[in-house]
Amino acid sequence: MKSIDNQFFQTHLQGVDVSLDSQILDTYGRDWTHLREPAPSAVLFPRDTDQVQQIVHQAREHGFAIVPSGGRTGLSGGAVAADGEWVVSLEKMRTMGEVNITESCVDVEAGVVTATIQQAAGHSGLFYGVDFASAGSSQIGGNIATNAGGIRVLRYGLTRDQILGLTAVTGTGELLALNQGLIKNATGYDLRHLLIGSEGTLAIITGATLKLWPKPPLRDVLLLGLPDHQAVMPLFASASHSFKLSAFEFFSQACVEHVCTHAGLQPPLDQPASYYALLELDQVDEPLMLDWFEQAMDSGWIEDGVISQSHEQSQQLWAYRERISESIAPRKPYKNDIAVRVGSVPALLEQLDELVKQHYPDFEVLWYGHIGDGNLHLNVLKPDTMALDTFKSQCEQVNELVFAAVQNHLGSISAEHGVGLLKQPWLNFSRSAAEIELMRCIKRQFDPDGILNPGKLLSG
Ligand SMILES: Cc1cc2nc3c(=O)[nH]c(=O)nc-3n(C[C@H](O)[C@H](O)[C@H](O)COP(=O)(O)OP(=O)(O)OC[C@H]3O[C@@H](n4cnc5c(N)ncnc54)[C@H](O)[C@@H]3O)c2cc1C
Repeated sequence: MKSIDNQFFQTHLQGVDVSLDSQILDTYGRDWTHLREPAPSAVLFPRDTDQVQQIVHQAREHGFAIVPSGGRTGLSGGAVAADGEWVVSLEKMRTMGEVNITESCVDVEAGVVTATIQQAAGHSGLFYGVDFASAGSSQIGGNIATNAGGIRVLRYGLTRDQILGLTAVTGTGELLALNQGLIKNATGYDLRHLLIGSEGTLAIITGATLKLWPKPPLRDVLLLGLPDHQAVMPLFASASHSFKLSAFEFFSQACVEHVCTHAGLQPPLDQPASYYALLELDQVDEPLMLDWFEQAMDSGWIEDGVISQSHEQSQQLWAYRERISESIAPRKPYKNDIAVRVGSVPALLEQLDELVKQHYPDFEVLWYGHIGDGNLHLNVLKPDTMALDTFKSQCEQVNELVFAAVQNHLGSISAEHGVGLLKQPWLNFSRSAAEIELMRCIKRQFDPDGILNPGKLLSG
């Protein structure tokens, strides 16, 4: 690792806030994965795009790699700095424009926290469509860099679908202003979409123009107990034909037990079910809802269920799904975030269930996910007595089998968390050799010296 001191930054990056404090290096060098020890050489906090450009120029000139850093809630190690990099945190770039009511959009700097955008949209009578459990900490720059999904993709799409414009600084320090809020723009390659989901490997995102939606109508939330996972797809098909769904989530009884223990909640139903589906939908008349509920019971898709009667109850029901990640975090879960076409979910679930029983007989395995868009999270919990490295290498061996099953269904090894460091060795299960080579060519154009997030997404 190259040595670096305050004098260097005072000489070359005057005016940029820099920290070399060991605790700060440790904090900003990791994300939620905690599977690699951090070792950055500095943490830099630019206050504007001009400072971001200066940082890139200096990193390039002095041969330092950069790890762009948002809220560090990432689940694939994308924001981990373990090799003397400069962490560039966007957290001091938090300016947000007035909500533009005429065009239903808002301009934000990259460091604005996702929940702040949701709140600002709400105060103006509009709605920001992306939401997930880490929205209180994640930043819009990180959401764009990972093309974050979350709980309402069914209705509003991914982060990609919210981006009307983007500003970003490439690995040569060039500032790009892409699409500039336009709805129509047929002038060739849309570089905005190349940067969305690029995981900090092509450019540092400095700001965005975000699409906002009309305020949603009142909504019902249903928490339903399912006898087995075979019931989930017929239930989804029936619900999506009967209602205007905004979310259809899935989780196992083991998840409910962890949440109840962690958050001190009572079980949601009188009798535990094997699996649960959580549905959010535009409110419908009670008789219509009860009819559907009875039909679902008669079909054997559900055993029991509750329907929210107020906003507070909706939030209480959502807690069983939204608090899963935090409740299992102390067990250092090994996470798989896979996706297939919705129609292939039952077959994949069947196959993975067998694989899990065969290869993880001693591990606790949890299923949950945004199953309405084909996205499953398979979480394996580390036994307390097992060393982290042993656990990780056992999970990585099983990855080959899990990803081969996903590949057979033409699915994705990373639905929404990104590839980062953790999924990088398996990228070829989802992308052809030709695609990966094209991705490398694109990377060379944006970042000829390979200083932006090296080793993430593409191997070094
Ligand atoms: C409890 C919990 C629940 C979650 N639920 C979901 C979910 O439902 N759906 C979902 O999609 N994700 C989910 N996540 C994952 C995570 O919150 C998202 O990936 C989020 O988008 C990361 O944002 P961040 O600001 O924390 O980014 P970070 O973790 O800081 O960074 C993520 C990646 O983006 C890059 N990056 C960050 N900022 C920039 C920038 N300005 N320019 C260029 N690159 C940048 C980093 O280098 C890294 O590669 C969850 C995480 C947790 C902890």
